[in-house]
Amino acid sequence: LRSPVVVLGAGPAGLTLGNVLRAASVDCVVLEAESREFIERRPRAGVLEEWAVRGLQRRGLAANLLERAQRHTRCEFRFAQERHRLSYAELTGRHHWIYPQPLLVTDLVREYADVRGGDIRFGVRDVRLHDLDTDRPAVSYTDPRTGERHFLHCEFVAGCDGARGVTRAALPAERVRVARHDYGIGWLALLAEAPPSSDCVVFGIHPSGFAGHMARSPEVTRYYLQCPPGDDPDDWPHERVWAELRERLGARGAPPLTEGRLIEKRVLDMHNYVVEPMAFGRLYLAGDAAHLTAPIAAKGMNLALHDAFLLGDALVACLTRGDASGLRGYSADCLERVWDYQEFSQWLSDVYHGTASGDPYRAGTALARLRRLFASPVAASAFAEQYLGEDPGR
Ligand code: FAD
Repeated sequence: LRSPVVVLGAGPAGLTLGNVLRAASVDCVVLEAESREFIERRPRAGVLEEWAVRGLQRRGLAANLLERAQRHTRCEFRFAQERHRLSYAELTGRHHWIYPQPLLVTDLVREYADVRGGDIRFGVRDVRLHDLDTDRPAVSYTDPRTGERHFLHCEFVAGCDGARGVTRAALPAERVRVARHDYGIGWLALLAEAPPSSDCVVFGIHPSGFAGHMARSPEVTRYYLQCPPGDDPDDWPHERVWAELRERLGARGAPPLTEGRLIEKRVLDMHNYVVEPMAFGRLYLAGDAAHLTAPIAAKGMNLALHDAFLLGDALVACLTRGDASGLRGYSADCLERVWDYQEFSQWLSDVYHGTASGDPYRAGTALARLRRLFASPVAASAFAEQYLGEDPGR
């Protein structure tokens, strides 16, 4: 079998790419290691930038999202027992959309497989890449039901298999540079079966550590608690979690937190990486396979979509019109935004974690940054612009 494109991974990057290709009648095969039920339920991100939603809309992929997602126009910082609101929509005319990642993935799978007739194979095992630096690359995998080994010959391979996939490892070390940054901290990521306790995202900056509150739906709220890296989630029973959240998100006049059963509890070690270039031979990486941004600034899914839009358009131009300029510029075009978001993530990490670092110098500079955000409209506007992500249409 020869299909022009084999896409590895059915996350936001791979599914968006598959949909863009199908819309242009370019055949592709999406290979996914997990089951459809699993990927449609896997809880992760929830914050989408406005340009990303418009990008999905232009490609016919945002109908459900626009009907169901909430718009967020401001966020709140709590520090030194005070609440400070930053109305970023007023400053920029733009806003965030809140739409849980499993809902977006469900919409994208449905559109790709059930509406656009795309080929997707779930539960594939032992995926291997072959002859990437030739013009006849291939991907092989084992079919879990029959145990048979399949070879897919193609023209291009898209590595959209996330942070733990196989495509990044297929890049020869002498041809790529991997820049890494380890923040040396962990976040306990929680999902609570509880309505949000604020009408916006809340960042708690506290000497005991950062805490975050992010609405996901009227019934479910995501919370984060800074913790040591590698901490055991079992050391965080219900009572301890809610006591810490109440303390770290506490401020004069703040409404009480609505508690609920914790339906997800896992520790994320905060680290980032960037692979440069995001391509080797006929392999192009997109999303977390190419770059990881810890959820500090809620950027990962947005970057995955940005890559998928660019790669989809570039592959369509190459395969339907013989125009390879988009593919040649792909890596550089993506990396500009990737580094911009990495820099913002690092800036924000200093603000979130400086106060609890035990280092009075870092604590002092973190508080100075926070005070400036609310004293200087210029500083607030600069923050808002980075928080919302630059609009590629401008
Ligand atoms: P993934 O979503 O990881 O998809 C990769 C797919 O490839 C998976 O389905 C995987 O099963 C599959 N796969 C892996 N190996 C193979 C293989 N060998 N063969 C075939 N398939 C394979 N980002 C935001 O923008 N905003 C947020 O608010 C936000 N919050 C987050 C909160 C948490 C707790 C976490 C963990 C992440 C958050 N992120 C956020 C980041 C966001 O979830 C990721 O950046 C996003 O999922 C990346 O999409 P992707 O398609 O590149 O990779």
